[in-house]
Parts: sequence; structure tokens; C-alpha cells
Amino acid sequence: MSALEKQSILIVDDEANNRTVLMEMFKNHYKVILAKSGEMALELAQKHAPDLILLDVLMAGMSGYETLEQLKAKDVTREIPVVFITALDGSVDEEKGLLLGAVDYITKPFHPAIVRARVKNHLRWVRQKQLLERFAMFDPLTELPNRRRLDRLLAADYEPGKKISIAMIDIDFFKKINDVHGHSFGDRVLQLVSDVFRETIAASGGQIARYGGEEFVAWLPESSREMAEQICERIRATVQSLEIDHLTGVIRVTVSIGGATSMIDENGKLPSNIVDRADQAVYEAKSRGRNCVVWDVI
Ligand SMILES: [Mg+2]
Repeated sequence: MSALEKQSILIVDDEANNRTVLMEMFKNHYKVILAKSGEMALELAQKHAPDLILLDVLMAGMSGYETLEQLKAKDVTREIPVVFITALDGSVDEEKGLLLGAVDYITKPFHPAIVRARVKNHLRWVRQKQLLERFAMFDPLTELPNRRRLDRLLAADYEPGKKISIAMIDIDFFKKINDVHGHSFGDRVLQLVSDVFRETIAASGGQIARYGGEEFVAWLPESSREMAEQICERIRATVQSLEIDHLTGVIRVTVSIGGATSMIDENGKLPSNIVDRADQAVYEAKSRGRNCVVWDVI
């Protein structure tokens, strides 16, 4: 999410006319996604994670209220603010919509300028919240997700039965690097190896977080043990080949990597011991002489 990126709005209405009117109002300033039913809205909201949803209440099939309840039931869509736009103008309807968690309730016929202003206000909030989350969830030195973000990933819901691999990566003799070459050099090492991690893991569809100090955790969804090991081996080899300039000459660093592969359980959760298993494996990698990859020794 960059500050310049256009924000996106998902417009949900079962009448084509209404969709067109709303789209015309917003298409110049925002990325607009259209859905003609609640079912379609759920699918598109999961796929695109829009910044705001404008939701009709009375629709053929799933109602707007039901759609909102479903959005609130899923991790990926729960936080997306929803604004009802509806012909139901009773205060009971409005109360119901707001109690279900909508951030606003606009009745038809509406005044376009007012709707635009309200949407703009909500989206300003969304942007501020996203920026704050970014600060709270990212490590400023390496710009990688931090421990807090990782804990969220670990606790989230996943598709039962899918494979997941977790790898713990530890920079070898990092304390010594800091002591001998200084902390600013140590910081540079952290940044350079983080770049290697980020590039290698992004290419595989995974994520990497700074766990703390010189420890990192890689997150490799839907990867078999063999694939995950290969990715980690690539990381290990690339880090070893880095030539890092220092006043005293070129410095090389290495990493030890321990990984574990498991299956998402029937409740959509990660096995609770998977990080500990990766931790055990990295411990084993250290005792085997470092600069190596060890997988699931338990
Ligand atoms: Mg309708």
C-alpha cells in the first residue's frame, strides 16, 4: 500500500441502474469494483480486499444484512468498513444496519455530493488506520513484517488440509559481527540479508518476518517439504555469496535455517508446535556447524 495508490470501493447492488449511478460518482477518484448480489460481493471482497464496501440492503438472494454478517465472520473481510445505501429509511432498519457493524447508513434517494463526502471521510479513516497498522506491523530497519504481524499470520484461519512450511532463519555469529565490525555494519547486514529473504520468498508466494534480533521466520504456504527446503537452500547459498563491503575489506556472512512442514488442521489452524519444530531444527543446524538447512528433526 503506497500513499499514492488509489483506494478501492466495492459497490453492491442488485439493480444495474443503481450500480451505474454509483460507479459514475466514484470512478474518477477510486478503483471501483461492482457486484450484483451478496454472494458475488463476498467473493469479490475476499479476492480484492477493497478499502470500503457500499452495500444495498434489499437484494434478490442474500440480503445486505446477511452479506454484512458473512463479511464480519471472515478474517480477511472483517475489517473492511461497510456503508449501507438503501431505500429502507425506517430508524429500525438503520439501527439494525449499524448494530450489525456498518460504519454508515445512507437512505435513497440520496444526494450525490453528500454520499461522496461521507465516502471520502470513511476512506480517509481507512488510510490512517492502514498507515498506523503498517507502523505497528513492520520492522523499520529491515522493512519486513515484525513479530506482531507474524503472530497474526500464525493465528489466522487457513484452508484445512493444505500444506504449510515454516522456516526459522538465524544469522550465524551475529553478535560477533556487531562486536567486531560495529552495530551500524550489523544493521547493514540485517538489511542486506533481509533483501535476499524478501526477494527469494516473495517469488515463492511466501512471506518473511523479523522474529527478533537476528532471527527471521519464513512462511511458505502450500509448499511441500521438498519445495520449502529448496527455497531455504537458495536463501542460504545467496546469503553466503553476498560480498559486503567494510573498511577492513569484504565481509561474508552465513545463515542457519531450520524448517518444519505440516498440514492445516480440520479447524483451519496451524499446528501449534510448528514454530517450535522449526526452532528445534535451526538449533540442530547450529550444532551441525551452521551455514546449513535442517528440516523437521523431531
Ligand atoms: Mg436492491
